[in-house]
Order: sequence, then structure tokens, then C-alpha cells
Amino acid sequence: MKLVFLGPPGAGKGTQAAVVSQALGIPHISTGDMFRKAMREGTPTGLKAKAYIDQGKLVPDSVTIEMVKERLSEEDCKNGYLLDGFPRSLYQAEALAGFSQPDAVVNIAVADEKLIARLSGRRFCPKCNGTFHVSRLADEKICPDCGAELVQRADDNPATIANRLSVYHEQTSPLTAYYAQKGLLKEVDGDRPMGQVSADILKALAVEV
Ligand code: AMP
Repeated sequence: MKLVFLGPPGAGKGTQAAVVSQALGIPHISTGDMFRKAMREGTPTGLKAKAYIDQGKLVPDSVTIEMVKERLSEEDCKNGYLLDGFPRSLYQAEALAGFSQPDAVVNIAVADEKLIARLSGRRFCPKCNGTFHVSRLADEKICPDCGAELVQRADDNPATIANRLSVYHEQTSPLTAYYAQKGLLKEVDGDRPMGQVSADILKALAVEV
């Protein structure tokens, strides 16, 4: 199954994408994770992306679209994939349609006030890739899953969060209407416990678990 997950930053796309990709046995492809890895490794893509990511802006299409196109041509995407964070604009959606047609698009909806609280309290484990909210951690510095030291994403600061939300509303949110018109959109309420959101997504995709 070829899937796209849409939703504002902080809606839980990454967390849900990890669960659903595992349930379906398809690779989870997060453009944000690909850029962060490229930045850690100091590759040309990482160097180009950094200034945009630090400001909460979209990385230019020339970099992003080529990166996704190459990734989807890899062997493990033959039986499907789950795209998390791409497309993020109508231009990217049209570009994707030129090289791969999604079977379904899941939109995880959460109101802005909730997103700001979620993003500003978000902590990330660089070792096991887990994402946590400080309100649910016994120790805000230690990963409850693997014991590594948790970090805060550089772009989870108030100014960048505000930019990311406005970029989402201006450029990404029109994609829900775009995919609804194509009959591909599945709407899911993301403002509920994580397990319920996962169950709803699988139900919307008509997947038995
Ligand atoms: P995310 O982890 O999905 O929140 O992405 C983090 C940042 O990576 C975004 O704020 C953008 O700067 C950049 N990024 C991720 N995906 C895309 C995309 N499809 N197009 C442009 N920039 C992106």
C-alpha cells in the first residue's frame, strides 16, 4: 500500500507512521528525519536544508523532491511506502503524482492550541528515535525506552513553531481538499490517546490487525 500522512507539525504523524508502517510491513519515509540525518552527517543536502529547517521554512523543492524520488525508487518501496512529511505543498503533490500515485492519504487533524503545547514540550531520543512529551516523563532528560539522554529538536522553539504552523496553514493544508477531490482522503481525529488514533487509522485503511 502506498500511503501519505498529512497533518500539522505536532499532530503525531511520526508516531502514528511508525506504528502503521510496522503493521503494514512498508517503509516509513519521513522527509524531516532524512533531513535531520543529512544535517548530522554534514552531507550537501544537509548543508542546504539547515538554514530553512532552523527557520521553520520549507526546504526548496529542487532538493526535497529529488530526495523523495530517489528514496521511492529503492528496492524496499516496491510493495509500498508510508510518506510522512511529504508532500507539503500542491507543487510537491503534483510532482509526486508524476512518479508515484498514493493509494490513500490520511489526514491527522489537531487544533493549533494543542499543537503549540505538544511541540514545545516535545523531547526526542537520538538513540532509539522515540518521541515523548515532558508531561509524561518521570525524568525529562532520560529516554524511558532506552535510557539515552533526551534532546529537544532545534526547531521546537516558540518562534520556529509559529513559522512552521503558518507554513502549514498556507502551503500544506490545501492538500486535504486536493486529495479529497481525488477520493483518496481519510480524516482522523488526532486529539485522542495514541492507541485510539492508530486504531482509527488502520480502520480507515480497512486493515485488520
Ligand atoms: P518534520 O520533521 O516533518 O516536522 O520536518 C522538519 C522540517 O524539515 C520542516 O519544518 C521543513 O523545514 C523540512 N521539511 C520536511 N519535509 C519537507 C518537505 N516535504 N518540503 C520541504 N521541507 C520539508
